[in-house]
Amino acid sequence: MTPSTDRNQQLFDRAKALIPGGVNSPVRAFRAVGGTPRFVQRAQGAYFWDANGQRHIDYIGSWGPMILGHGHPRVLEAVQRAAQDGFSFGAPTEREVELAEEIVRHLPSVEMVRLVSSGTEAAMSAIRLARGATNRSRIIKFEGCYHGHADALLVKAGSGLATFGHPTSAGVPPEVVQHTLVLEYNNVAQLEEAFTRHGKDLACLIIEPIAGNMNFVRASLPFMQRCRELCTQHGALLVFDEVMTGFRVALGSAQSVYARALPGFAPDITVLGKVIGGGMPLAAFGGSRALMENLAPLGPVYQAGTLSGNPIATACGLATLQEIARPGFFEALAQKTRMLVEGLTSAAAGAGLPFAGDCEGGMFGFFLLSRLPQNYAAVMKSDTAKFAKLFHGLLDRGVYIAPALYEAGFVSSAHSDEDIAETISIAREVFRAL
Ligand SMILES: *Cc1c(COP(=O)(O)O)cnc(C)c1O
Repeated sequence: MTPSTDRNQQLFDRAKALIPGGVNSPVRAFRAVGGTPRFVQRAQGAYFWDANGQRHIDYIGSWGPMILGHGHPRVLEAVQRAAQDGFSFGAPTEREVELAEEIVRHLPSVEMVRLVSSGTEAAMSAIRLARGATNRSRIIKFEGCYHGHADALLVKAGSGLATFGHPTSAGVPPEVVQHTLVLEYNNVAQLEEAFTRHGKDLACLIIEPIAGNMNFVRASLPFMQRCRELCTQHGALLVFDEVMTGFRVALGSAQSVYARALPGFAPDITVLGKVIGGGMPLAAFGGSRALMENLAPLGPVYQAGTLSGNPIATACGLATLQEIARPGFFEALAQKTRMLVEGLTSAAAGAGLPFAGDCEGGMFGFFLLSRLPQNYAAVMKSDTAKFAKLFHGLLDRGVYIAPALYEAGFVSSAHSDEDIAETISIAREVFRAL
């Protein structure tokens, strides 16, 4: 493609003149892999077409929300019908109640929810709720987990165990993160020590139960069990950030996966986003009635939003949740996702490439490593140059995965067995060329 015919490049140049980096969210800029981002013209089912008219099999799906694929007819109809009735009222609607009912129905740990507009807002509000309800300031987060870009959560680990973290972004004053303790994921000894030292001051521990923001790293069962026990023992709240995993890895979300192995297991607060909006700006946080009644207007913890519970977003989310609640939906989705990961694994083996993949429900990840990593430091041992080559090899052939090796992938119900087979055969070709 010459510069005069590459519409993606032309649009990127125009965008860069007006929008920092040419994008409205950094990872879209392809900085980790180089090259020109694809500007999406339209999408349908498992595919999108870029500005040059090239078709891509989409394994990002808006970073998770598009679990039914693009333009699902029943979702589209619900959105169109809702739009006819008005865009936003700043007053309550029946659909908010219906969506809340649909969320609560599938999550036993959630008795009440508050709807917001982004995962960032939901996680930030959940932390405020935990602090308000416990009257404590300190929080634990884990290195490699992402909980949106609220100041207090933009933190990386300090220089040693049980030290408080450093801001990962300019513009975040050290005082704002001085209450955030950053620990290594899946490290039980560090966790124990942190609770021994700070347990009585801890408002909550926030965790991605399956960390999709370091590609795909599961919290081990013993680690998760210890998180639960220590929180309970010290009066801290266990916050599950299921913005990515919620209604994505199972209808009961990641907490149901842990509850299967650890009977009675439940988080205190659940943070949701992505799938529950079906591609519209919608997120939520929820927990027990007693806890949630700390929120304004009932309690002292303030939280609000002009567009919260937006009528079009709730219509989209509700239609999406109703579709994925159909019998057999997740079994079929999980089967397809497994087929993809197994196919990629055997293609890599055929090419003699180190490769380790994992999946749950409609979410997957893989690493160019000989075994699955357990924490951020191990994830970062991946070969970034090789990943960039892999990424562009797939992209050139119409397979769109995340342009960074620390991001998960997503399969939708619109991906056919043929799409999966085509992806695997393209991957086989690309792996061989590596
Ligand atoms: C995407 C994500 C967020 C942030 O959600 P936004 O809607 O992008 O603000 C928070 N936590 C997790 C686990 C996420 O994957």
